[in-house]
Amino acid sequence: MPGPGDVLELIRERGALTRGDVLEITGLSRMTVYGRIDSLLDAGLIVEAGADRVTRGRPSRHLEFNSAHATVVAATVDTTQTTVAVTDLAGRIAIQERVEVAVADGPGATLTAISASAHRLLGRAGISIESVAGLGVSIPGPVDPASGRPSQPPLMPGWDAYPITEHLRDGLGVSVLVANDADAAALGEQRAAHPDSRALCFLKVSSGIGTGIVLGGQVYRGTDGGAGDIGHVKLAGHDERCQCGARGCLAAVASGRAVARALTKLGKDASSGSDVGAYLAAGDPDAARLTQAAGRVIGEVVATVVSLLNPSDVVLGGRLASAPLLAGVRETLYPRSLPRATRHLTISLSTLGESAAIVGLATLVVEQEYSAAAVNAAIAR
Ligand SMILES: [Zn+2]
Repeated sequence: MPGPGDVLELIRERGALTRGDVLEITGLSRMTVYGRIDSLLDAGLIVEAGADRVTRGRPSRHLEFNSAHATVVAATVDTTQTTVAVTDLAGRIAIQERVEVAVADGPGATLTAISASAHRLLGRAGISIESVAGLGVSIPGPVDPASGRPSQPPLMPGWDAYPITEHLRDGLGVSVLVANDADAAALGEQRAAHPDSRALCFLKVSSGIGTGIVLGGQVYRGTDGGAGDIGHVKLAGHDERCQCGARGCLAAVASGRAVARALTKLGKDASSGSDVGAYLAAGDPDAARLTQAAGRVIGEVVATVVSLLNPSDVVLGGRLASAPLLAGVRETLYPRSLPRATRHLTISLSTLGESAAIVGLATLVVEQEYSAAAVNAAIAR
């Protein structure tokens, strides 16, 4: 018998619904549905929105998930910096800050800085730690779906299998989840900008290259958390050394780090994807040309992804997301794919930019903490 949590899940997933909608969709009795809805209203998990539709002569009010029910803390760890944000349950950012720690500082220093930042931001926003539903952390490497720990990340020394969840839970006393950054950003983009997309690929091109895949509204992580890790696909005819130690990886040829290296050879000071992003934003023609060339190489690999998944959306994000990157990807992707695979394909730049992963992390925290089972157990208590 579906409980209140199942009704909440329906309202969360389908958006605003009337009592009549819930009756119709669930096929449960009127008494059961009204009882479930009353208990969700009493718990503050849903709210009634304005009377905007008339059913059988009576105005029927919409029921919506109460995105102010609790708060989420989201932290995105990157190769050059970390961002910590406090959001509502819809991923709307209340307050955020940059923290000057990054992957290379190792997990201990990075996670301790995240804890301190979370306490600082909550204090500034006047939010108590008790009203935090959970903390989501994204990292630029694969995450083992079973353990929630980093799984042999190629460019994160000291992070392999590190107990991120335990470290942060001890520091904050809230539940913690860990996600790959491209996965989190893919989910954020799908929810915020492409809600009807049944298959979306988010391509993060920063210092490294990674892909997040959202199928049927859920992140597809793969058997070992390695789905979408296309940065280390070996390209024929290339011998450039990659950060991972191998040669000829896509990331060695077409990542932000690779473009930065090419810019350095032209006498420009650049070492990371962020540096390349700054040149692109300033309209530097060399950065634009090299980024477009990188896009062409990326498009060759993404053509295989598109043929495999037939997505409706490929979203380009990360520091190199720009018109030249988009143009480069289009140049090679279309000629290398069958028309059927690209007929309904939209290739676009990220709508949310750096906030995409934060929105995705908030979504993941809500899905975990407000799952049907969690809510049924909490209300039965
Ligand atoms: Zn590599």
